[in-house]
Amino acid sequence: MEAGIVGLPNVGKSTLFNALTCSQSAQSANYPFCTIEPNEGIVSVPDGRLEIIASFVNPERILPAALKLVDIAGIVKGASEGEGLGNKFLSHIREVDAIIQVVRCFEDDDITHVSGKVDPVNDIDIIETELMLADMQMLDNAIGKAQRTARSGDADAKKRVAVIEKCQAHLDKEEPLRKLELDKEEAKIVNGYGMLTAKPVLYVANVDENDLTGEGPLVQQLREFAEKTGADVVPVCAKLESEIAELDQADRTEMLESVGLEEPALAVLARAIYHTLGLQSYFTAGVKEVRAWTIPVGATGPQAAGVIHTDFEKGFIRVEVYSLEALQEHEKESAIRAAGKLRIEGKEYVMQDGDICHFLFNK
Ligand code: GDP
Repeated sequence: MEAGIVGLPNVGKSTLFNALTCSQSAQSANYPFCTIEPNEGIVSVPDGRLEIIASFVNPERILPAALKLVDIAGIVKGASEGEGLGNKFLSHIREVDAIIQVVRCFEDDDITHVSGKVDPVNDIDIIETELMLADMQMLDNAIGKAQRTARSGDADAKKRVAVIEKCQAHLDKEEPLRKLELDKEEAKIVNGYGMLTAKPVLYVANVDENDLTGEGPLVQQLREFAEKTGADVVPVCAKLESEIAELDQADRTEMLESVGLEEPALAVLARAIYHTLGLQSYFTAGVKEVRAWTIPVGATGPQAAGVIHTDFEKGFIRVEVYSLEALQEHEKESAIRAAGKLRIEGKEYVMQDGDICHFLFNK
């Protein structure tokens, strides 16, 4: 799972990236383009259920789900034309599953805003326009090749040409591709071209230290805008989070409490990414390891098994499932079984978030 952090320069992307990855590798400074190369970091997805399961199972190790974050340098007006560091950056987000756009919602006269004014919706508009222009260019480049191949009678290439033309017509209306209805096959083609505006997006409102829950007018503007497009908004104070991230565990908890936050930004953001991408978790709980696995909401038993190993999906026989509540009540798998709370589910079973699973399969 990969997410790319985008935004105008000086909105707090590097500060957020550093806070999330606890790394000080990305330089943060008050001038545009300080992040020359994209920074990448892998973070564990926080999930309190893992520790609870582990407290009963006592495994050798706990393996949370992993999330790769890519910090893309600032996109400015004209980026798709090569302004700033332009296209080079945009190519770094072709691979990601989701886009996190950091939107400045904090006022600070000492920190320059590229448009001279803090205006969340306008900022989103600038970025979205650049991403749409980059997609248009990409499609203009791709269509020639697809047409040449299609002329030789290649059916796949004909389909590609049709999909490209459909996307071009949509982008001409200044609409991002995530709003275009595509069937499965078309979506796969669009994905293959790494279309930026086809990727799900969520907004991080980089809020003021005295507006941590994002009640201020700037965040409200952003929320109203996002509601119309169905995107999530997560208020985060990047500056405060980066200070919290530098503390050791005990001080961190104390600091979070003192500012009235229940958990660090990474936990909130990870949940929002799961929501945006339509994902959920299930767990395996053995003495060797307690582990979280990421699956799409609606995945069946065999599909969930396939995330562990493709052979598991092919050879799936059944899955034994119990809930975290059953574990907390009965403490041991044998006791859960004895209490009749260990369910045996077959190929049609639709996985539920938080299922604790043991798969049986043919080798
Ligand atoms: P980037 O260009 O988007 O990566 O922005 P940076 O992370 O480098 O941040 C630009 C400047 O804004 C730095 O001086 C940060 O300390 C400052 N900054 C980042 N987040 C906040 C915030 O939440 N509040 C305030 N007041 N300043 C912030």
